Amino acid sequence: MNDHEKLRELLGIAAAGALTRDEQESVDRHVSECAGCAGEWSAHRLLAVGLRSLPIPQPSSELVSRTLAQVSLRMEMQADQRWGQWVMIFLMLFGWLLAVASWLVIRFLSGNYLVWLAPGFARPWLGLSGYTMLLWLTGGIAAVILGVRHQRERRMI
Ligand SMILES: [Zn+2]
Repeated sequence: MNDHEKLRELLGIAAAGALTRDEQESVDRHVSECAGCAGEWSAHRLLAVGLRSLPIPQPSSELVSRTLAQVSLRMEMQADQRWGQWVMIFLMLFGWLLAVASWLVIRFLSGNYLVWLAPGFARPWLGLSGYTMLLWLTGGIAAVILGVRHQRERRMI
């Protein structure tokens, strides 16, 4: 690609005034020497001046306020979702800790605490698994009920 072709591609951008100072100087220099590019350059400039004189369409204030309201609603919903996720994680960890802790307390109160350390510890672990699953199921049902209620509340807004 020679200088002529390279600079010819820049003429449109130059007319829009979007070139760097060096690029603009090269275009100016070439245009003063090349008749073909000079003609195209003046056509581009005419077009640029015409475009600049056109009125810039402005969005109606109603559209702007509606868009802003939509954006803030979206952001609120996203923040709400993030918060919900953190609450869910916290509830899961809490539920799990509660399951383990309460199981230990129950074992301790029933005097079977040391069964854990016994060689045949399969049964206590089975009990713990069942107990944990029951608690998780209860927690899951509670989470679903809360989620459905939350969605219903949001629809009412
Ligand atoms: Zn040229």
